[in-house]
Order: sequence, then C-alpha cells, then structure tokens
Amino acid sequence: MQQSGLIIKGIGGFYYVETASKVYECKARGVFRKDKITPFVGDLVKISINTDAENTIDEIEPRRNYLKRPPIANLDQLIIVASSCEPNPSTLIIDKLTAIACNRDIEPIIVLNKTDLQNVDELINIYKKAGFKTFAASGKTGEGIEELKEVLCGKTSAFTGNSGVGKSTLLNCIDDRLGLSTGEISEKLGRGRHTTRQSQLFKVQGGYVADTPGFSSLEIERNEIIKKDDLQYCFPEFAQHIGTCKFTSCAHVNDKGCKIIEAVKNGEISQSRHNSYIAMYEEVKNIKDWEL
Ligand code: GDP
Ligand code: ZN
Repeated sequence: MQQSGLIIKGIGGFYYVETASKVYECKARGVFRKDKITPFVGDLVKISINTDAENTIDEIEPRRNYLKRPPIANLDQLIIVASSCEPNPSTLIIDKLTAIACNRDIEPIIVLNKTDLQNVDELINIYKKAGFKTFAASGKTGEGIEELKEVLCGKTSAFTGNSGVGKSTLLNCIDDRLGLSTGEISEKLGRGRHTTRQSQLFKVQGGYVADTPGFSSLEIERNEIIKKDDLQYCFPEFAQHIGTCKFTSCAHVNDKGCKIIEAVKNGEISQSRHNSYIAMYEEVKNIKDWEL
C-alpha cells in the first residue's frame, strides 16, 4: 500500500514519516543512495507500507527549497533570533542569515529578544526599513509571544541565531509541550558537541517548527555560500536600485556612480546593511564559480 507523507525526523538511516493517519518508521530505498540523494526532514514523500518487511520511502517530491547543513527541506520561514544583549547582537550575523534565507527562497523573520534588558528600537528600524517582518520579544515578560505565535501559524519554520539568544526559551513560551532545555551558554555548547545533529519537526500552531540543535547560526553560515553576483539580490532593499548605477557591472562597493551607495548616504538604505554586504562581498569575490 502506498501513502504520501512528510518526513518529521531522521535517525541513523531511519525516517519517521507522518501521514494523515499515523507516523511510520521507514528506510530509504537503495536507489536514492545510488543517485546520491538523501531524504531530508521536511521532504514530502511517497512510502510503501509493508506488513512483512521494512516500510520504504519510494519517492521524494521536488523540493521548494532546502538547507544542506543542517539538512532540512521545504521551509517557509527562517526565524532569526538575536538578543538585545547577553550575547550582544551582531548585524553582520543577522544580515548573513537574512541573505541566506533570501537566496534559498525562505522568508526571513527577525525577532529581537531580551527587550527586558535593553532597548532594541534601533535594530527594529534597520530591519523594518529593509522590508523584513521584525518584532521585539522577551522570553521573560512575554512581549511579542502572541505575535510570534501568529507568524508560525500553519507554516514550516526554523529558528536560528547564536547560542544563548533565547530560541529555546521563546519556543517553550509558544508551546510548553516542547519542553526544550534552556540554560547557560557554556553548558549548552558542551552538550551540543557530543550529540549528533538531527533536525526534527514539531507540530506547533498548526504548522511545524524545526528543533534548535542543528540551527546555531554558525553552522548555517559556514555551509551556505552566496556567489558574488547573486549577493545583491539577497538584500531586498537594493532591488529598486539594481541596474540604475552608472556602470552596469557596478558591484556597489565603491562610490563611482553607485545608486545603492547614494541610497545609503541619503538614509534610504541602512549603513549597517550595506557594511554587511561589503563584508560578504569581500569574502566571496575571489571564489570562482567552479569552486562552489
Ligand atoms: P538558546 O541557546 O538560543 O536556545 O537560548 P536559551 O533559550 O537557552 O536562553 C539562554 C539564556 O537566556 C537562558 O538563561 C534564558 O533564561 C535567558 N533568556 C532567554 N530569553 C530571555 C529574555 O527575554 N530575557 C532575559 N533577561 N533572559 C532571557
Ligand atoms: Zn552600484
């Protein structure tokens, strides 16, 4: 009997596929290994239910998008969490993550947590101006939790952001059945090193949320490189200026007739966003396409 389902967990070569009726433990068919395809959490699949043998994944539906490390497919949104302090926010990290999400066709949403400790208005302005859904939150006072719940409604989301910014705390506020462990930064890093990174999808607010362990921002950043020519399209607020610079090959890193830099100067585009663009451009400008 064949059924359609969603991979919600993968452990040691076994995949847990949620169908309309129940969750089945399945193995991937050998043909995927031969074709070097690995099923990802988030994949929509066709499975065979066998009474006298292992259930098998027979077919993987084309992916809308995916991240390689941690492996996850078909995300609607990437919830980028930063904190007002402890640890201090880094616009470069936030901007790298928004760019990666845009590059993969995943909507980035920015949550600035720990507003009980420090004001985050400046950051909110930067990200709202860039055109992203952005809001303030606090796992301590409950600020922003209702908004966050609404954002997750019916969508498949993953939380990312540095360790200690409050991802697990926020998720526990949204749904206390998650019972994610929260705690001191050093303690958690220690634990993380020895556990295998496996994503898992949890049902939350009528949608799915990927658990946090595989989603430290570092891991995503290290594994997702954006080509230098694609980078400008990963900053949505640049879009209306692209193609209007004096030189058609303008990389928007120096002044001469650059309309994007003009927009930075007149305050239309935030300086910190452009700084991150330059930093990312410098990182990839010498990488050849074939090296990627
Ligand atoms: P994660 O590593 O991103 O999952 O972060 P955690 O949820 O484990 O939180 C790290 C630390 O920050 C914990 O000690 C939390 O109690 C604390 N924390 C989380 N959210 C807030 C908040 O909004 N305000 C304050 N003051 N502390 C918070
Ligand atoms: Zn330019």
